[in-house]
Amino acid sequence: MNQTHPPTSSAYNPFRVAQQQLDEAAKILQLDPAVHEFLRWPMRELKVTLPVKMDDGSTRIFHGFRVQYNDARGPIKGGIRYHSEETIDTIRALAAWMTWKTAVMDLPLGGGKGGIICDPKMLSAGELERLSRAYIRQVGRLLGLEKDVPAPDVYTTPQIMAWMADEFSFQRGYTEFGVITGKPLALGGSAGRGDATARGGMFCLREASKALNLNLKDAPTAIQGYGNAGSFAHKLGKELLGLKIVAVSDSRGGIYNPDGLDYEQVLAHKAQTGSVINFPGAQFVTNEQLLELDVTVLIPAALENAINASNADRIKARVIAELANGPTTPEADQILFAKNVCVLPDFLCNAGGVTVSYFEMVQNAYDYYWEETLVHERLDKKMTTAFWTVHDVAQRHKVHYRLAAYLVAVNRVAEAVRLRGWA
Ligand code: NAD
Repeated sequence: MNQTHPPTSSAYNPFRVAQQQLDEAAKILQLDPAVHEFLRWPMRELKVTLPVKMDDGSTRIFHGFRVQYNDARGPIKGGIRYHSEETIDTIRALAAWMTWKTAVMDLPLGGGKGGIICDPKMLSAGELERLSRAYIRQVGRLLGLEKDVPAPDVYTTPQIMAWMADEFSFQRGYTEFGVITGKPLALGGSAGRGDATARGGMFCLREASKALNLNLKDAPTAIQGYGNAGSFAHKLGKELLGLKIVAVSDSRGGIYNPDGLDYEQVLAHKAQTGSVINFPGAQFVTNEQLLELDVTVLIPAALENAINASNADRIKARVIAELANGPTTPEADQILFAKNVCVLPDFLCNAGGVTVSYFEMVQNAYDYYWEETLVHERLDKKMTTAFWTVHDVAQRHKVHYRLAAYLVAVNRVAEAVRLRGWA
């Protein structure tokens, strides 16, 4: 079966959302119209068509993208996502959010994103490897430590990063691990990268609880999505903050136990059965029901558009810590703000991943590796500084954290654009 071209229309378009969010910030910042228009669009985009030999001897054609949104502040940084419903507009939105993410964290990087339309669960390891190498053969010309450094995202793993780094190194004729982050430790990965997104999110939540005067000990918490971000949030939420995780879910549905869910046991169950559902002693909930549970903390860690105008007013959580990218629409943001629900916005709350990816780039450049405790310490410092910077702006402008984070980030990127004489 051949892959189809990306769908071109849908009611929800994440890139329109990203542009709408920027427009709101631009208005408050009174951004120069040319700078504003420049920041509404990716600077470069590459569409690639990838023929891949399948295990049965046939050749299948896949479609992929790399979007380099903005590099005014430094080389492009952004993950690669494998998903059957990938579209160019999803990648554009994710690339824009990466630009704001590196800026709000004050990392010397720009933002981008890549992806392939595919269902990795339907591919063998050999097919995945050939697909990943084919992608780098096409996109490799855009990449490099000084130009564009990808990383993992949804359904891409350290093993896939290793194949990609290897393919790129062959193209160059020498080993160049620094071209990609999220690699296994044996190939120049950083200690602490595996759980960095969730860990950074927990640091952000910890700081927010101080601002809100909210006790997180035993606070009932629900997590949507049980991959890298979500499963580590289960582990670290309990370990670092004492949260009581009462519900978790994956693409097949969710489980709920008001007395709490044990991390090791849920992880073992998922490893054994392929899903969190049917976990002994827990009740089944749909992904929609999970979002509306009576919890203090809600952690969306799956995909975009989970919290929107149709369900925002039924959210009961006091704090939403967004580990997913784009889980909340602008309409939902307004509803939640009016309800006094604190939303820790994606590009601040999930920035732990890119921050440790940046640490990985630095370590690769120096070929000198840090201990895990040092990575955690430096990540904590970065997250804490970014949170309070955003908090101060939110207080000053009386806006929600997402808009405040945009004000900080857009201001920094716009300054770089102006100083470089681009607009
Ligand atoms: P992953 O591939 O490791 O896991 C994705 C998880 O989401 C899986 O458990 C899958 O079953 C689940 N899922 C898929 N569709 C779902 C649905 N409709 N409802 C509920 N669950 C669903 O991906 P990840 O790296 O954990 O990424 C999750 C989110 O976090 C994405 O939005 C990603 O962009 C964002 N993010 C990840 C990182 C990172 O370092 N991994 C960094 C920043 C942001």
